[in-house]
Amino acid sequence: MLNTKVPPGPIENKWTQYKAKAKLINPSNRRKYKVIVVGTGLAGSSIAASLSELGFQVDVFTFHESPRRAHSVAAQGGINAAKDYKNDGDSVWRMFYDTVKGGDFRSREANVYRMAECSLALIDQAVAQGVPFAREYSGYLSNRSFGGVQVSRTFYARGQTGQQLLQGAYQALIRQSEVGQVKLHVRHEMLDLIVEEGKAKGVISRNLDNGSLEAHRADAVVLASGGYGKIYYLSTLAMNCNATAIWRAHLKGAYFAAPSWTQFHPTSLPQMGDYQSKLTLMSESLRNDGRIWVPLKAGDTREPNTIPESERDYYLERKYPSYGNLAPRDISSRAAKEQIDKGHGVGPLKNAVYLDFKDAIEREGKEVIKKRYGNLFDMYKNITGINAYETPMMISPSAHFSMGGLWVDYELMSNLEGLFVLGEANFADHGANRLGANSLLQACVDGYFIAPHTIMNYLAGLTPNTNSPSQAGEMALQACQNRIKKLLEIKGNKTAEEFHKALGKILYQKCGLSREKQQLLEAKEELQALQQQFYQELLIPGNENEINFELEKAGRVEDYLGLAQLIVEDALQREESCGAHFRVEHQTAEGEAKRNDAEFAYVSAWESLPEGKVVLHKENLEFEAIPLTERSYK
Ligand SMILES: Cc1cc2nc3c(=O)[nH]c(=O)nc-3n(C[C@H](O)[C@H](O)[C@H](O)COP(=O)(O)OP(=O)(O)OC[C@H]3O[C@@H](n4cnc5c(N)ncnc54)[C@H](O)[C@@H]3O)c2cc1C
Repeated sequence: MLNTKVPPGPIENKWTQYKAKAKLINPSNRRKYKVIVVGTGLAGSSIAASLSELGFQVDVFTFHESPRRAHSVAAQGGINAAKDYKNDGDSVWRMFYDTVKGGDFRSREANVYRMAECSLALIDQAVAQGVPFAREYSGYLSNRSFGGVQVSRTFYARGQTGQQLLQGAYQALIRQSEVGQVKLHVRHEMLDLIVEEGKAKGVISRNLDNGSLEAHRADAVVLASGGYGKIYYLSTLAMNCNATAIWRAHLKGAYFAAPSWTQFHPTSLPQMGDYQSKLTLMSESLRNDGRIWVPLKAGDTREPNTIPESERDYYLERKYPSYGNLAPRDISSRAAKEQIDKGHGVGPLKNAVYLDFKDAIEREGKEVIKKRYGNLFDMYKNITGINAYETPMMISPSAHFSMGGLWVDYELMSNLEGLFVLGEANFADHGANRLGANSLLQACVDGYFIAPHTIMNYLAGLTPNTNSPSQAGEMALQACQNRIKKLLEIKGNKTAEEFHKALGKILYQKCGLSREKQQLLEAKEELQALQQQFYQELLIPGNENEINFELEKAGRVEDYLGLAQLIVEDALQREESCGAHFRVEHQTAEGEAKRNDAEFAYVSAWESLPEGKVVLHKENLEFEAIPLTERSYK
């Protein structure tokens, strides 16, 4: 039985009560404990800086050459907080409600409430660190709206919010590195978790410059290794994003929750051909002013500006009048797919819809729109050659964010004691669909405000011990060596990239925006065949004692092949539609997702056993503060 450790009492008091009762460690004893942090995105940098500021020893690992290269740097649109600066009716409670509803009632109430509660302090913390949020003429911080809400609670720094927030976290981290409290291991990839007597006690890392494998011990391990949406190959994520850290921890016993819940972002640039390895995101913030439409007539090839108003279908405004173009991502992406599938798609491959700023420019003037989104319009022009001030943008849904991740309890600890999982790497707060601008928030509050308390509470019950030799560490190191050797020895004729591309195609076609039993069964077989082929035909040039990108990639694709099968298993098992998980067999007469609360109001937490067997553990979700209702944005 999964123990969520959610404290008793009214939801408003749970976190305050937890902090009041959590165990502390005397400042002079803290330096005796060591914590390993994997990842230097917003979640990793913030927890590493916070723990070392408290006096703990912290070892930090990132495969990038600088902590600042973490993928958080790519986030454009903004970060949510219930400050109610706009006086438009926002509150912690409303943010809590919007997030639970946005996630289609598949998240844990207590975690979501805490995230909304902590959002208030987070903005103050970021401003104190010098994050240059956009401001009104009066000096107040400015806000805009994101999907799935009717208030403006998104704080932003032009289209570079992630980068600016990461600068703040990075400065805090580097300060601690300079004073010797943090030891930074850049260009080191975590390949395995060391587990001793059921507790996480360290990691095995590979030095990506010379290939040496090292065992590092600690009293607790934090995984803040980001999301795995890149498993779909074509996605908005950076090329190097991967699932290795969490997948290897999973194989060591950490349960994987809701692996199939992947968000497809509605405003990515469409695929233009077979040569692409990545798709570019156009921030959701554009939906504040852009109107989404397709030609009413299927197969219409006219230039968009020549199509009269009466021959356009503003389908989101038509179907969801209350939220219009700001309908949540899962709903907006599915609606786009529906139009594209019916032949209304536009662009060379007929795989896009229009995002049109004509009305906003007429209403507010080009200069205002330029100030709000100038860098996004420039980026669009650089990629497509099209001036979006004059011609509507073309956008399309693309894999973007993983709501799934390692299962964690209220303390953000996995079922493996001493293994904490933060940011996008865990499953915690977003349910079956993440609301825009809630992810930067989650990564930050996990690291700055929540895990410092829960990790100290855990460490307080331990005797620090990282010096004695560890047999488990030796064994894990040997297993990593064997694994690398085995991959190098295949000497086939297909690169890891080719396998990744094939894997992405299977997932997009059979376990993507919509899922259906027969197709999922086919995907299962195809993935098994692809995995077999991988072990027979993989080609890795070079060897292990040098910089070898092909070897790095091969290890990550090997892990993706394992995770992909769990994703399909999870999608098959969940015989309902909820949020981004749309099972064709389970929809309303109007084509909306149809939940089955009687049978599926739980989080699936998967355990993998040797020889590919999996066991499903269930965390039943209880809705005490917000009654379960049908989700509607009409
Ligand atoms: C294009 C784009 C735009 C986005 N815009 C927004 C937005 O406007 N608002 C919002 O709220 N969210 C946005 N998101 C989502 C948000 O950016 C991420 O969810 C969030 O930044 C994740 O932070 P993180 O700290 O969990 O992980 P990351 O920032 O991804 O960091 C992961 C870290 O882990 C390290 N790592 C991973 N595996 C290993 C390993 N095995 N060994 C060593 N190191 C490892 C990496 O080197 C990196 O340092 C966007 C996402 C994308 C893709």
